[in-house]
Amino acid sequence: MTPSLEVSGLAYAYPDGTQALFGVNVTIGRGERVALLGPNGAGKTTLVLHLNGILHGGAGTVRVGGLTVDPEDRRTLREIRRRVGIVFQDPDDQLFMPTVREDVAFGPANLGVTGAELDRRVERALTQVGMLHAADRPPQHLSFGQRRRVAVATVLAMEPEILVLDEPSSNLDPAGRRELAEILTGLDVTMLMVTHDLPYAAELCPRSLILSGGVIVADGPTLDLLADEPLMRAHRLELPYGFDPRAIASR
Ligand code: ADP
Repeated sequence: MTPSLEVSGLAYAYPDGTQALFGVNVTIGRGERVALLGPNGAGKTTLVLHLNGILHGGAGTVRVGGLTVDPEDRRTLREIRRRVGIVFQDPDDQLFMPTVREDVAFGPANLGVTGAELDRRVERALTQVGMLHAADRPPQHLSFGQRRRVAVATVLAMEPEILVLDEPSSNLDPAGRRELAEILTGLDVTMLMVTHDLPYAAELCPRSLILSGGVIVADGPTLDLLADEPLMRAHRLELPYGFDPRAIASR
């Protein structure tokens, strides 16, 4: 089966000369849930911004569901942006319409989806995140956790090949965090989750990548990586007090 994501030899320097990525190779199979871990400045954002062609111009290739990201080709880029659904850290960056329903309809409507098909997409996406009951409410009347779930729905309505989540657990209370985890693990979609929340990575993602200094320094089962103390220390990754990945692994 064609992988959802294939990043090959990706290198990139910002215009000021800062080299942020040095030949990154990553393949993510369809349906996998993968965490992208790494200290600040590792290159995680730079990598994510290459997945849908926001950043480009360095070496290497990115393929999404077999289609190569080509920032020069507007039609390809449009399809790539549909295939790569990025959920930003702040849901308010993604919600700007008078009602939840209109926010979720916005993306597919822009692609030309109309009528009964548009209604089906919106209802399906809102049902997937448990927010159909709020379809006619203004997003700003919802709790932060509910707004994040609606932000996920805006991306699901595009029927993406891969869902990319930037710090999905940030600013959530414990109940909101658990609800989102249940929703995300129940989705039948490929997922790449950028996070500093290592227990959340352990709970949601069987596999993790550690990006550090612009290179992938580890790629393997999340619990194995988190239990590797020298690896964790070398890349400034710290488990919260009392969290023991070996105890989870032996359950
Ligand atoms: P992370 O998301 O892992 O914290 P980033 O991808 O933001 O890492 O940054 C990777 C490297 O690129 C860092 O050295 C950072 O300072 C640098 N960088 C990020 N954005 C820019 C920019 N716009 N111009 C120059 N350097 C940048």
